[in-house]
Amino acid sequence: MQPVELTPYDLQRYDRQIMWPSFGEEGQRKLKTSHVVVAGVGGLGSTACMLLAAAGVGKLTIIDCDRVELSNLNRQLLHWDKDIGVPKVQSALEKLSKLNPTIQIVPVQQKITRDNVMDLVDGADLVVDAMDNMATRFLLNEACIRRGIPFVHGGIYGLMGQVMTIIPKRGPCLRCLFPQDVEGPRPFPVFGTAPALVASLEVTEAIKVLAGFGEPLVGKLLRINGETMEVFTIQIERKPDCPVCGS
Ligand SMILES: [Zn+2]
Repeated sequence: MQPVELTPYDLQRYDRQIMWPSFGEEGQRKLKTSHVVVAGVGGLGSTACMLLAAAGVGKLTIIDCDRVELSNLNRQLLHWDKDIGVPKVQSALEKLSKLNPTIQIVPVQQKITRDNVMDLVDGADLVVDAMDNMATRFLLNEACIRRGIPFVHGGIYGLMGQVMTIIPKRGPCLRCLFPQDVEGPRPFPVFGTAPALVASLEVTEAIKVLAGFGEPLVGKLLRINGETMEVFTIQIERKPDCPVCGS
């Protein structure tokens, strides 16, 4: 990877995070050269994209095939009333390019399928799961394992959420966690705070993995229940016979 220098603008813009000792200018340089793919620009993706853009991740590829609907607006903070009917990636691009005009944002208005998933994650340093269905998550999990790309899983339901970070060869994958296909009813209930919270945790994981500090949730599933404010972490073992990451 080409070394990049931080400009005086960067040093000022990202000053408050550069001040964090285990991150520093080196961490900021790593973010600036990073390419993150955000799969889904709905509830999770809105907050994830805003935080990644604000943090100075150099390149964001945002993928979503849908258009903005009225019932999205309680939680999908990048999309506003005026955007109803507009492709979500276009609506997101408009706001994100104003939020941080110094980064590159690539909108991809496509449905993620078995046929295109490898191409979509190719070249990414990390993939953020901001999907609303398990079938696509399993496709992304498999593609990231095959390509050796870290994958931050996040999911929400109502006021509940979960996060796990998958680093190929270092810990369990999403298939180790869910050996069987699982899919909940649709549509499902969601308050706006749940995706904002879970996406914030996902981006915290992304920043740590990209900059190489802290302890990501590898082999640990963090669960949060917003009704009771219980937060707990469950150890997840890598399955030697996992059809996706097993040897
Ligand atoms: Zn696995």
